[in-house]
Order: sequence, then C-alpha cells, then structure tokens
Amino acid sequence: MIRDALKNEFQRIVGKDNVMTEPDELHAYSYDSAVLDQTQPAIVVRPENSESLGQVVKLCNENGLKLTVRGAGTNLSGGTIPHPGGVVCLTTALDKILEINEEDLYAVVQPGAVTAKFAAQVAAKGLLYPPDPGSQAVSTLGGNVAENAGGLRALKYGVTKDYVMGVDFFDVNGELIRSGGKTVKCVTGYNLAGLMVASEGTLGVFEKLILKLVPPPAAYKAMMAVFPDVMDASRAVAAIIANKIVPATLEFMDNFTIRTVENFRKAGLPVDAAAMLLIEVDGHPAQVEDDAAKVESICKDNKALSVRVAKDDAERNAVWQARRDALPALARVRPTTVLEDATVPRSKIPAMMQALDKIAKKYDLTIGTFGHAGDGNLHPTILTDKRDQKEWHRVEAAIDAIFEEALALGGTLSGEHGIGLAKSKYLKNEYGVGTINYSRRMKSVLDPNNILNPGKILGPLLA
Ligand SMILES: Cc1cc2nc3c(=O)[nH]c(=O)nc-3n(C[C@H](O)[C@H](O)[C@H](O)COP(=O)(O)OP(=O)(O)OC[C@H]3O[C@@H](n4cnc5c(N)ncnc54)[C@H](O)[C@@H]3O)c2cc1C
Repeated sequence: MIRDALKNEFQRIVGKDNVMTEPDELHAYSYDSAVLDQTQPAIVVRPENSESLGQVVKLCNENGLKLTVRGAGTNLSGGTIPHPGGVVCLTTALDKILEINEEDLYAVVQPGAVTAKFAAQVAAKGLLYPPDPGSQAVSTLGGNVAENAGGLRALKYGVTKDYVMGVDFFDVNGELIRSGGKTVKCVTGYNLAGLMVASEGTLGVFEKLILKLVPPPAAYKAMMAVFPDVMDASRAVAAIIANKIVPATLEFMDNFTIRTVENFRKAGLPVDAAAMLLIEVDGHPAQVEDDAAKVESICKDNKALSVRVAKDDAERNAVWQARRDALPALARVRPTTVLEDATVPRSKIPAMMQALDKIAKKYDLTIGTFGHAGDGNLHPTILTDKRDQKEWHRVEAAIDAIFEEALALGGTLSGEHGIGLAKSKYLKNEYGVGTINYSRRMKSVLDPNNILNPGKILGPLLA
C-alpha cells in the first residue's frame, strides 16, 4: 500500500488524472508479453513532460520505492513486471518526435514515441530507420533501446544499438545525464549511451534519444525458397553468407510453422515443404540483380525445390505477410505461447535445429521454429497451456535445455529479447560469476537503494 501522502506527491507531480491506484488499473500493469507470474504495483503514474519524469524518479529514490518504467509492455522477458507494491511509470505521454534532421541524418525523440510511427515519419522524408521489431506497431523507442531490440533487417542493418547516437536519461537522483550527441563522431567521456542500451530500465530512465538515420536502398528483391529438408535450408543460409552476400533479411520457417500459417491465412504456402527461407536483398539495382541471382543459385545448389522471386510489391508483400503471420498463427494453436530467443553462430543453425527437434520429442512438446536465420537468431516457439501443471514443468525443462544447447554451440541467451526476469537465472552460464559481480557492483553504485527495476537482468539477489 502506498501512503496517502506519497500518492498526493505523485498527483502533484504528474496531475490527478495521471495517477492510477484502482485494482483494475493496477492489474493492467501487472504483466507484460512474457509468460511469467503477475505482480501488482501499488501505483501507476504517467508523466506528461520530461521534468515530471525526473521528479518521479527522484521521489521514488527518496522513499525507497521500486520503479519500473514501461513503454508498451511488449517485451518478452518480464522486463516490465513490477516489483510487488512498487511504482510503474508509463512513458506513453512522452511520445514526441522532436526533430528529424535530413542534413545530418539523425532524429531526436522522446522515449514513448512509437517505433512504426517514427519509422513512417522518417520514410516520409526519404530516409530509413532500420530497426523493425515485429512489435513495432505499438512498441516504443525507449523500450527498443532498453532492450536493444532487433528485427527482420538486423542481418544487414544491425540492431537498435547501431542507431543510438546519444541518450539523455535521469539517474536515481532525478539528475539529467547526457551522453553521445548529434555528430557522427563523438568520443567525449565514458560511453554512457552504450551502457544504457540493453540496460532494461535498471540503470536510469531515458528522457530523450538521438537516433541515426540512413538513406534507404534504391532497390530490393524478395524471394521465397522451399526446401525438402531443414538441414538443406540451414546449409543454404550458411552458404549465402559464406559467399559474401549479406541479404537485408534472411528468415526461416519450419514445416509446423508453414502449415500453421497456411491454416491461418490460406496464402498458398507449400505445406509439404520441410522448411522455407524468406530472403530479401537490397541496395543498388545492379547489385540487387546480381545478389538475387546468386542467392537463387545457392538455394538450388542446396537442394531447394523451388525459388519464387517476387515480381512486384504485391508479391513481395505476400512473402513478408507469411513471415509476419508466423507468431500470430502459432499463438492461436494453444492457450499459452512461449516465444524463445536462442541464438547461435550461423554455422551452428543446423545443429541447433537438430537439438530443438530432440528437445521437442524428449519433453513431448509442440515447438514451431521460425526466426532470423541469417543472424543465427531462432525463435523456437513452444505451444502449451500453462494451466496444465505437468506439461508446464516439461516446458520449463525444455527451456533450460534450449539455452543449455545454445550456449554449448557458442551462442547466447538472447539475440534480441533481453534477459529481464525470465533469463536472469542463466546469466552466469553465459558470462560467469565475475561478470555478474562486476555488474552488481556497478548497479549498486549507480542505484544504491536498488529502486530501478530490481531483479531484472542480475537476478533476485538484488531484488
Ligand atoms: C508480437 C511481438 C513481436 C516482437 N518482435 C520482436 C522483434 O522482432 N525483435 C525484438 O527485438 N523484439 C521483439 N519483441 C519484443 C519487444 O517488442 C521489444 O523488446 C521492444 O523493444 C519492447 O518495447 P516496449 O515499448 O514494449 O518496451 P517495454 O516492454 O515497455 O519495456 C521494455 C524494457 O525497457 C524498459 N524501458 C522502457 N522505457 C524505458 C525508459 N524510458 N527508460 C528506461 N528503460 C525503459 C522497461 O523497464 C523494460 O525493462 C516482440 C514482442 C512481441 C509481443
């Protein structure tokens, strides 16, 4: 329970209408897109300007209130599950796109600006903001930076961190800290902007972001390659990269996912295919022609049954619609969808696919796999029902096995979804205890009262 005096203080800072304490309001912010247990905050606040955002952080620190900042709550690792009885601070009112600079190719935005809305405004100026998480229609840029989100274009264009030029954020005392800037080169001081990327709301609260923009490609070509065997598709991925072609996008779908998507939309997908690659090359028109021809022949050399090249934008859209449908289609099969994020070096994709198959059989689970094969980031998606306790225990064991396998193959716990609460228990397996202790020391100096999103990334010892 939050004391009345404190509630009044929050109301003074953000206004009465922006403070929520009713049970249904608190319930709405007790969970996010990860499949984890809910926890209820004591209060939800929604600052409408940067000054009140800073004051909220300061007030929380002065009163030892645990603070979880929340954009759209679409993260898949429990990053916005609040501390029980803590404060949730929404950034949805801080959604302004403050500047799109066409001369110097950067933009300045508030943290609550919605990714797709921003990307569309950038595109309207003839420029490109490449990071394109599947959630971009609702996700916020603050959430993208805090999670270091990726997306379909990450293979060629990189992830959010590659577009963060500067960050202004509030520390726990409500002091505004600035790092980076609007110049292409800026090496002034510690790279605090870099430190803040992927910090999941545990080190500071973004107030403003400076993001890099790039010119869009002059041409692109999308294609769909169908394979009789998952291993052939996996080998084709490795061969495309080994042939020094870097497509903008190189996505994978297994047979289960293809069939589920086809069931969902009846788009004429090859339901008998063991696997499908969805590929887009982009750049100068001559380069695109050249790369597309090479990709086609590499797929055929790796036993592709067919390679369909999109003839126009409508066909291109059909290719990408199939990929966009993967998660919503799978999510309809069973009540609970656990979307994982295991990532391996690209050459290890065949081994990871074999391991996933074994894990599904061993734990008697349905796992549909799709993902960003070009960068080794697979999304094994477990379809289950959390209410079935026996099955849920098998799911938990399967998740442990997936990450064990990914790490054994030289991979990582997260390609793009972050660690949050969901994967903090595995962190030491990837980086060791020394790294965790170092990170904890840093956190305890920057946030001595441990108010900023406690328990996320570094685990329960700090909660
Ligand atoms: C259908 C679906 C598809 C998805 N596809 C992708 C994908 O392709 N690629 C990908 O990378 N992810 C994907 N995601 C995961 C998710 O959308 C991303 O992690 C996204 O970046 C989260 O943005 P958000 O605004 O929802 O942030 P939230 O979930 O609200 O917050 C995420 C984290 O950021 C912190 N945070 C938010 N705002 C601030 C701030 N102002 N200051 C400090 N910390 C802050 C929060 O405390 C939390 O730790 C997907 C999720 C869904 C549901």
